[in-house]
Amino acid sequence: MSNQWIYLNNQFVKKEDALVSVYDHGFLYGDGVFEGIRVYDGNVFKLEEHLERLFQSAQSIMLKIPYTKEELQDLVVETVRKNDLRSAYIRLIVSRGPGNLGIDPETCLHPQVIIIAEKLALFPDELYEKGLKVGSVSTRRNHPDVLSPQIKSLNYLNNILVKIEANQAGVHEALMLNDEGYVDEGYVTEGSTDNIFIVKDGVIYTPPVYLEALEGVTRNTIINLAQKFNYEVREVPFTRHDVYIAEEVFLTGTAVEVISVIEVDGRIIGDGKPGKVTQHLLEEFRKIVTVDGVQCYPELKDSIVE
Ligand code: PMP
Repeated sequence: MSNQWIYLNNQFVKKEDALVSVYDHGFLYGDGVFEGIRVYDGNVFKLEEHLERLFQSAQSIMLKIPYTKEELQDLVVETVRKNDLRSAYIRLIVSRGPGNLGIDPETCLHPQVIIIAEKLALFPDELYEKGLKVGSVSTRRNHPDVLSPQIKSLNYLNNILVKIEANQAGVHEALMLNDEGYVDEGYVTEGSTDNIFIVKDGVIYTPPVYLEALEGVTRNTIINLAQKFNYEVREVPFTRHDVYIAEEVFLTGTAVEVISVIEVDGRIIGDGKPGKVTQHLLEEFRKIVTVDGVQCYPELKDSIVE
């Protein structure tokens, strides 16, 4: 028996007992929404922003979350405490719930809410020091008219196809291009589960969210931090060529945090080492992750030792 507790439909159950119906439309059709969140030293980083995005995703797919934001906030904190965790990754899932075999969501009467908290490091420490090798792939980002990239739905096949291409190409992560979006197609959008930034002549660039990229919580945090330290940030479309000739490239996301990219499609970026701007922003990011959010153990704050 593991010691891990999972929140599943109104109760905490052991990991082994955390089972859902094969008739759940989340399983059958990817019908549901989710958030990936991190807790740092007892602080659930940007929990409000994640809950806001969860409710927006649910609103968009007409899924009624059976809790208020405040209730979900308490449940997330409770899941962290129940597992005696201080630093971990949290997965919050709301699926459409069990229905019949047809796709009609009206047959699903009880959405399921699941919260999992556990340790997660997406890449080994070594890659955070050295930087990633990345490739661009042929799979395009979902067109917003088909399935908006702003909906963090359980249907992640677009992203999984990108990851498969990255694996086939022997790179750590891959970049998706857009497909006839707001502007002409072929602009860089984002990675399979992260947003992209490039630095050129000291200016920081990231694709605008209308260009088929998820509006990442980490992305917004990095933009705010960069502006606070007087970097110029431009949210404009750019091509693979712009990425190849950048001085620095880095990715951001809750799971990956902030990680440098040192090679794209075989082109070495800058001097092939994590750049100064990236490192500066990473340092500043690490300073705020333990304070900018919701404290799980306020009474213990001073005595917490990881
Ligand atoms: N893009 C995609 C497709 C993602 O899945 C994620 C992870 N949620 C991100 C970007 C980064 O978003 P965030 O910083 O909110 O985790």
